[in-house]
Amino acid sequence: RKGRSLFLGPCDFLKGVVAMDGLPPADRVEFCFAGRSNVGKSSLINALTGRKALARTSNTPGRTQEINFFELGETHYMVDLPGYGYAEAPVAVVEKWQRLLKNYLQGRVTLRRVFLLIDGRHGAKAVDEEIMALLDRAAVPFQTVLTKLDKLKKSDIETSLEKTRKVLAKHPTAYPAIVLTSSAKGEGVETLRGVIAGL
Ligand code: GDP
Repeated sequence: RKGRSLFLGPCDFLKGVVAMDGLPPADRVEFCFAGRSNVGKSSLINALTGRKALARTSNTPGRTQEINFFELGETHYMVDLPGYGYAEAPVAVVEKWQRLLKNYLQGRVTLRRVFLLIDGRHGAKAVDEEIMALLDRAAVPFQTVLTKLDKLKKSDIETSLEKTRKVLAKHPTAYPAIVLTSSAKGEGVETLRGVIAGL
């Protein structure tokens, strides 16, 4: 890859999708980010793309639920799925989101990988495991990204990794390799770029 940029090119917002008929044509390699609200998804997307406010940080929980598409270079779509697991979101909103997510995940032939973000301090919660089960059923490979590692001591990182590995062992579509990140410190960002470039 000598002489080529480390990443795949400029990244720009394309559109927010609220229904299946709004999806852009499936003509690019696609990957997406998923995770509970507040897991650090926007911060990681901003760190990855080097854009300060590409994905809005501290987005209001329960806000309109959209699947956000970004064009990355000329060959990829980067997709930001709405944060889940916000307890106070109305049931109707949650159900609509689950339906859209399910349809999107099951029907998107170009979707190569879901990066499932888990807060390193909290580990996988029941709602994360529900998403993992959904991904298993849809046969969409997913890779776990532990976030906010700057908030953990080294020994706690080991514990978090062990716990996460145990959870992943139950899920056939999970990649065993876990990416460790801190958007605050920039750690793991290059690694993740490399993974994306290799998709
Ligand atoms: P999102 O809801 O998943 O998009 O999460 P945000 O990116 O908006 O982050 C939620 C909160 O966690 C914000 O207060 C961020 O500043 C904080 N945060 C995100 N990433 C990190 C990180 O790597 N380290 C630390 N210490 N805080 C972070």
